[in-house]
Amino acid sequence: MKKTSFSLALLWFLAFRVLLAATADAIETADGPLKITPIKHASLMLEFQGKTIHIDPWNEGDYTGLPKADLILVTDVHQDHMDPARIRDIKKPGTIIVAPAAVAKTVTEAVVVNHGESKTLVGIKIEALPMYNLVRGPSQGKFYHDKGRGNGYILTVGGKQIYIAGDTECIPEMKSLRNIDIAFVPMNLPYTMPPEEAAECVKAFKPKIVYPYHYGNSDLTVFAAALKSEQGIEVRMRTWY
Ligand code: ZN
Repeated sequence: MKKTSFSLALLWFLAFRVLLAATADAIETADGPLKITPIKHASLMLEFQGKTIHIDPWNEGDYTGLPKADLILVTDVHQDHMDPARIRDIKKPGTIIVAPAAVAKTVTEAVVVNHGESKTLVGIKIEALPMYNLVRGPSQGKFYHDKGRGNGYILTVGGKQIYIAGDTECIPEMKSLRNIDIAFVPMNLPYTMPPEEAAECVKAFKPKIVYPYHYGNSDLTVFAAALKSEQGIEVRMRTWY
């Protein structure tokens, strides 16, 4: 009897994993499909032409059965973005790690890409841009994310431009972006911005597809409603388990 219930539990677990895998999105590019798998909070995985890119891999995410990384991007020093233990688990010989200088102090093997620079690694063009708070911080005059420390990234994959914003408010560098095909935009208070503000920012740079991520307890329906009548912007709400 016990054995049966164990087998049943295992079956459910496997079915759940298949279901989870099925939640990955495939987006067609000029060079084949790009697969996007939401993992947890700011953690996600991209797969393209047999290469796996893990972004902000974190121990709170479930990485069971996921492929190891060819490329790891880290945005910032906070524990939900930079997790040396998870990086150790998810890397393999030859994995390239890209990070801002502040992260490279801890993750010493990281290749540093500074704001405004771009590098092509694993066949993917990676451009770094700022991510920071304009007004929010733990106390007067302090910010959760200081300008200059963390990296947002724009990846060019199969001719598509993918923007990973990192922890940021609606900064001018985001508003002035153009030709973004897929954007990952954060929202959660007090650390980044509320969904209304994130939606205003998205209206300014008009990505073709936008995924709210790093959203904590934010009301995503507010974000979606604010963008409902925007032509040419598709909001994709996914669960970051
Ligand atoms: Zn964060």
